[in-house]
Amino acid sequence: MSRIAYVNGAYVQSREAVVPIEDRGYQFGDGVYEVCEVFRGALIDEERHLGRLNRSLAELRIDAPVKPGALKMILREILARNKVANGYLYLQVTRGVAPRDHVFPQPSVRPSLVVTARQIDPRKGEAAASKGIAVISTPDLRWKRVDIKSIALLPNVLARQEAKEQGAYEAWLIDAEGLVSEGAASNAWIIDESGTIITRQVDHSILRGITRTTLIEIIAAHGLRLEERKFGLDEAFRAREAFITGATTLIMPVVAIDGHKIGGGVPGPVTLKLRHIFHDAAARST
Ligand code: PLP
Repeated sequence: MSRIAYVNGAYVQSREAVVPIEDRGYQFGDGVYEVCEVFRGALIDEERHLGRLNRSLAELRIDAPVKPGALKMILREILARNKVANGYLYLQVTRGVAPRDHVFPQPSVRPSLVVTARQIDPRKGEAAASKGIAVISTPDLRWKRVDIKSIALLPNVLARQEAKEQGAYEAWLIDAEGLVSEGAASNAWIIDESGTIITRQVDHSILRGITRTTLIEIIAAHGLRLEERKFGLDEAFRAREAFITGATTLIMPVVAIDGHKIGGGVPGPVTLKLRHIFHDAAARST
């Protein structure tokens, strides 16, 4: 089936969708994005994703491209036109099109909005989760405001490529203190010997994942222990379980870190339970 993209006011065939070469996203990475899971035709945690989008835009002083109601209609239309029941939606806003100059265009130009969606067979994620994934560690080369979901992802791209070349799925980024920031495209979690679930606290050094936020609510609702604090690789190697979270991977067990087996090299029971509960919660909310 041919795919349809929304580009600045028009629904167009994906392969014919284009943006001008002077779009500031193309030239400077001057824009932000969101990726939202689609489950049974519904956008999971839509309000939280739109809230984070607005925050990212405000931090970079980019205007909203359309009114909130119009944006929601566009998102639904893209799901319908692409017949996406399960998969994900991608939304990108850039500062707009202007002659190349580092400073913001003056007078300001209309921000560019692109929305696409892709159908993914949910069995793929389940198959990956039943085996678990391997991660590697690599230095965190990113800028100091990764709490903004900017489209400028070069260090993340290089880290993911490095992971792939080493036979792993994700790269955990190591900060200047030698501690784990997060994954190149996910948040990082471990579960220690006592069953405490540990993930880094939110500040400017990680992205506040929407899956992370929702999972923290689930953890509290189930009376599990959570510590939001930094951890290093030595602690991760000793962990009973480890996992990553993200809108496309959901809760994905990690079974090896830099070649060290975690939990005997099989997905941990608490991780799998949380994945299950997360799915149930998502199903109920649709
Ligand atoms: N951290 C980074 C660097 C990411 O790119 C992502 C997702 O793309 C996440 C964390 C997880 O965020 P979310 O759960 O909102 O998908």
